[in-house]
Amino acid sequence: MTTCQQCGGQGKITCEKCGGTGKVQITEVETVSDVSHTSNTITCPKCDGERWQLCHRCYGSGDVHDNETSDVFDPEGRDT
Ligand SMILES: [Zn+2]
Ligand SMILES: [Zn+2]
Repeated sequence: MTTCQQCGGQGKITCEKCGGTGKVQITEVETVSDVSHTSNTITCPKCDGERWQLCHRCYGSGDVHDNETSDVFDPEGRDT
């Protein structure tokens, strides 16, 4: 096991949809009288306002198996 490079061992990463704000801005295109569109800030539907999402690489554990990281050098070597 080795520390997950994706999240740095935290098991969670900043939500990519809201960028860690927990909120996203949506634009409702709606033509009502002279107003053509309105912007609304809503709770991020991806992280549900938590600002984080579960790391998709280690699934929240913060550790990954060595053979799952391609950039890790294996000190034991593999002589056959
Ligand atoms: Zn989010
Ligand atoms: Zn991770």
